Amino acid sequence: MEGKSYRSELIGLFGCPVDENATVVVMEAAFQALGLNYRYQTTLVYPQDLEIAIAALKAMNMRGTHITIPHKVSVLQYLDHVSETAALMGAVNTITLKDGETYGENTDGKGFIESFDQAGIDLAGRHIVLFGAGGAARAMTIEMASRGVSSIAVVNRTRERGVELVELLNEKTATKAIYLPWDGAFQIPQETHIVVNATSIGMHPTLGRPDIDYSTLQSGMIVCDGVHNPVHTPFLMEAAQRGCRVMDGFSMLINQAAISFRLWTGLDAPIEVMRSALAKEFDLE
Ligand code: NDP
Repeated sequence: MEGKSYRSELIGLFGCPVDENATVVVMEAAFQALGLNYRYQTTLVYPQDLEIAIAALKAMNMRGTHITIPHKVSVLQYLDHVSETAALMGAVNTITLKDGETYGENTDGKGFIESFDQAGIDLAGRHIVLFGAGGAARAMTIEMASRGVSSIAVVNRTRERGVELVELLNEKTATKAIYLPWDGAFQIPQETHIVVNATSIGMHPTLGRPDIDYSTLQSGMIVCDGVHNPVHTPFLMEAAQRGCRVMDGFSMLINQAAISFRLWTGLDAPIEVMRSALAKEFDLE
């Protein structure tokens, strides 16, 4: 048929291991809902092949790709442009190809922040206690700092990693950050507004919950978890029982996917379609 294009726009997900990453379900549901001829390809890319994979992305004129474990940091060296916040975090999870050049962005922390926007919670002036100092912690703290939180206490098992994140925040943002050691059940300071688990504790299949003195969680606090599988982590369930307002990692995941979708297609993402596709996949309905 004249004028008809049989070519699909290609989006990737480069990771290793990557087989159990369900993002394809969310993205394909969104493409279908908007009638877009896009394909999301979950692709196994070994660390030694990452540079070639980025060159292939350009050669095949792909729209872009998600980047996941273990490439989020190493990929920066192969990109033509990196956003200011992604450069600060030192990690990229979304690449967009425009006019033959690659643009790196990090939507993980932005997805986290969007959950606050959706809940109508203003972050400015808040005191934060955050557990963890890995990739998710970096993304969340840098984005929270950009929204004017007053202070962030980073609590991490490995001191050096925690101190490194605190130094980054103090040097590059206006938020005051401190490192607090994590030896024994952590006591949440009373003036804390928001408590965040940015460690991998609680993840399926090991589950468990961060070592906190849970009697120090106050009912007015907002308690967030980056872990999305399971959605109702033991940490969030305990916080909810104590009257805290809880925010789960599932919303963060959907929001970051929606922001990436917008970067690739230029269109607003059908968030409810994406949410229910993943909920169905995870048997949450
Ligand atoms: P990293 O491996 O970079 O960091 C892991 C963090 O968890 C480190 O701070 C590590 O501490 C800490 N940790 C792990 N095990 C323990 C333990 N037994 N006791 C104390 N601390 C521990 O992982 P990421 O930052 O990339 O991911 C962290 C979590 O965030 C994961 O569950 C991931 O699924 C989730 N995530 C969710 C997203 C979403 O959209 N919902 C997006 C991105 C991540 P140490 O430094 O001492 O090793």
